[in-house]
Amino acid sequence: MAVQERVFIAGAGPVGLVAAANLVRQGVPVTVFEAGATLSEESRASTFHPPTLDMLDTLGAAEPLIAQGLKAPAFQYRSRQHGVLAQFDFATIADVTAHPYRVQSEQSKLTRILLDRLRGHSDFAIEFDSPVTGVTQHDDAVEIVIERDGKSERRSSRWVIGADGARSEVRRALGIEFEGFTWPERFLVVSTPFDFHSVIPNLVSVSYVADPQRWYFLLRIPGLWRVMFLIKPDESDELALSREFAQSLLATIVPGVSNYEIAHVTLYKVHQRVAKTFRLGRAFLAGDAAHINNPLGGMGMNGGIHDAINLTDRLARVWRGTAPESELDRYDRQRRLVTLETIQTQTIQNKKNLESAGPEFKESLQRIAADPARTYDYLLRVSMVASLRRAGELG
Ligand SMILES: Cc1cc2nc3c(=O)[nH]c(=O)nc-3n(C[C@H](O)[C@H](O)[C@H](O)COP(=O)(O)OP(=O)(O)OC[C@H]3O[C@@H](n4cnc5c(N)ncnc54)[C@H](O)[C@@H]3O)c2cc1C
Repeated sequence: MAVQERVFIAGAGPVGLVAAANLVRQGVPVTVFEAGATLSEESRASTFHPPTLDMLDTLGAAEPLIAQGLKAPAFQYRSRQHGVLAQFDFATIADVTAHPYRVQSEQSKLTRILLDRLRGHSDFAIEFDSPVTGVTQHDDAVEIVIERDGKSERRSSRWVIGADGARSEVRRALGIEFEGFTWPERFLVVSTPFDFHSVIPNLVSVSYVADPQRWYFLLRIPGLWRVMFLIKPDESDELALSREFAQSLLATIVPGVSNYEIAHVTLYKVHQRVAKTFRLGRAFLAGDAAHINNPLGGMGMNGGIHDAINLTDRLARVWRGTAPESELDRYDRQRRLVTLETIQTQTIQNKKNLESAGPEFKESLQRIAADPARTYDYLLRVSMVASLRRAGELG
């Protein structure tokens, strides 16, 4: 079988398309295979962190994303009992980023922006309705199987990136374990056009509300607020997904305000899992195919985009012959360790903090907020600058 001089990418989510854009930008031809008939419309990630925006800027995608989203220069922690516990402002880390704010915008906006920019480029091809179902490694090539129109088609290229999401077929075909656990609780996202600013004083666009009974957080995106609630293990999916239940949860936010207009209700299972390796021969895993975590802190897609840039910068150098293939092992070493050490640890801690809502949490936040050096370090951590620096140190 003829080997195509291209990189194959499974999955046209945010991670697959960032990988494609960064390879094409550096002169590496790419074909993306997407299982769906179109790009996904699913409403999932909606927070882009400062260093992610810096990366998207090099792809020409930050400006249009910001134009379609909204800037969140600060975030706050509250508790149901005490109101605002602490507020943090990204201007504090303006010396390390050109984007000292979060951008609130759906991930489906980013994928459309990237595809629009890539379309028509001679080094770029995308094939929809083309799920990748098999991967076989050879010495100098990798062969994939695509299911199309009820038939299996085989294609070969030099490298393949599995960016095909949490249920990755690439990961399965490579036999890579996805180690970790699934939380017994689930997370419910209720979207409403209700203007919380009009009833909650000093509310900012990202606000986490701690509570030992049922924490929630409020996150504004253009035209809507997304409210995420914890769903307890003994509450059924049917109950959680009913409009009445969503109304009853929303009614706990502001005393006297009820009967909200509800745009969407979505229930998610939540996992903490990391693939045993991010590289096997000529195949790589990136994004949710490589790691999944709870959405508190908005680190899943952001971490996946950081994977995509780390990997494709190296792959471009290997492609051009300016770096040896061993360079690619650094991707696994850096990104897998950072995922375990920082992203998994931080998101698990974020969940515990919201659940505890105890005096220690309040005091620890207030200690950070009162000390400029601690505030600076804390913001480097939550905005994921620290995890990128840590990856760089790993060599
Ligand atoms: C409620 C919620 C809120 C979240 N909020 C945030 C947030 O604010 N910030 C953040 O950073 N993260 C957040 N996340 C996580 C984020 O959504 C994911 O980390 C992100 O979607 C991962 O991107 P991806 O490209 O790796 O995978 P996906 O977005 O899952 O994309 C995978 C793509 O591959 C395609 N595909 C699947 N199988 C195949 C196959 N066999 N062959 C070819 N194509 C295939 C799919 O159709 C899809 O298009 C949130 C998640 C949830 C559930």
